[in-house]
Amino acid sequence: MNRFVYADNAATTPMSESVYEAMKPYLTECYGNPSSLYRIGREAHRAIDGARKKVAEAIGAAEPKEIIFTGGGSQADNLAIRGYVKGRSARGRKHIITSKIEHHAVLYTCQALEKEGYPVTYLDVDREGHVDLQQLKAAISDQTAIVTIMAANNEIGTIQDLKAIAEIAHAHGAVFHTDAVQAVGHMHINVQEMGIDLLSLSGHKFRGPKGIGALYLRKGIALDPLVHGGGQERGLASGTENVAGIIGLGQAIEDATGANLDEKMGYVKKLTDRLTKGIMDKIPYTHFTGDPINRLPGTASFVFEAIEGEGLILRLDLAGICGSTGSACSTGSLDPSHVLMAIGLPHEIAHGSLRLTLGDQNTEEDVDYLIEKVSEVVATLREMSPVWADGKPDMSSACDLHHEHHH
Ligand SMILES: *Cc1c(COP(=O)(O)O)cnc(C)c1O
Repeated sequence: MNRFVYADNAATTPMSESVYEAMKPYLTECYGNPSSLYRIGREAHRAIDGARKKVAEAIGAAEPKEIIFTGGGSQADNLAIRGYVKGRSARGRKHIITSKIEHHAVLYTCQALEKEGYPVTYLDVDREGHVDLQQLKAAISDQTAIVTIMAANNEIGTIQDLKAIAEIAHAHGAVFHTDAVQAVGHMHINVQEMGIDLLSLSGHKFRGPKGIGALYLRKGIALDPLVHGGGQERGLASGTENVAGIIGLGQAIEDATGANLDEKMGYVKKLTDRLTKGIMDKIPYTHFTGDPINRLPGTASFVFEAIEGEGLILRLDLAGICGSTGSACSTGSLDPSHVLMAIGLPHEIAHGSLRLTLGDQNTEEDVDYLIEKVSEVVATLREMSPVWADGKPDMSSACDLHHEHHH
């Protein structure tokens, strides 16, 4: 029996029916430009205000106007970091602190700024992916403008201690930005309680549409815009608003948070626990990655010894399964992902990574199918592997193998 199982919810999620229904009028009859003064323009403007309020409420912002709609998570990250260090609130401070496991939207923004003369510190993480707070304390100074650390990692699911990071940043007069693209809609986030000054989120990671996101910007912080033009979004994201996208984002965040969140987290976590247990029990020479407890409820991440991630993904695809790997050779890079390297996985083991991410649309039957097929495919690939013999990794046939194991 072949099924189709989508288990790559960290890459994107299927848009929900309620989001689609909410967006429809703004893709059809209500097409006015929100800046126009006549009725259909005013209606679009009012709908955007409603969505802004929903986003603010979902993350515990003090006021709706602290929400800036952007063209997705990457744009929010770029605006937050570049906009802050170039803006007047930075008061001439130039130093940026981030971590080695950030999404490329943050990492490459920092690297680009480094080339423009902004010194950047890239913090190490431990084996479970937590940033080193002692190293943060040692690196931060009165020259530090911004600390940008992700809320939860997209590859291994580890959740950071946001409150502790914010306190360290504030003690030195720096602001704290968090890329919460994987976190919002999947765990509790409250910007005021957690001391977050800037936060990025993206609609398509919690069953909203793609190409729409938001930046939370604490009142009183000034940013330099990346895009100049008509002055929309308080001049920070010029361009005619993606009205339908914004309405969809508002609906999606309302559905994903508030009273619905705990129930959803519990359901997804139960599925993920079943999946993790099934895979760890059935497949020998498997390592679980990330923090086993403080992690995103839907993220199951592993590395299989003597397996190559790309082949695994392609064979799972043949079985109707969508998953992902942090070790794709086709990208032209022979290195496994920067995240797997940063948590200290030996190179040759990190090549066999698999990330399965579940959502509230997945079922127990999906999970059982995943366990069955992943076990089968891993066994088949190992039979064909030059570094596998007699039911175990064959170290003699590989050069430069470390005998390093986790957990
Ligand atoms: C998906 C993702 C992004 C990028 O968001 P887009 O809306 O696709 O631009 C940024 N950071 C993290 C952690 C993500 O998972």
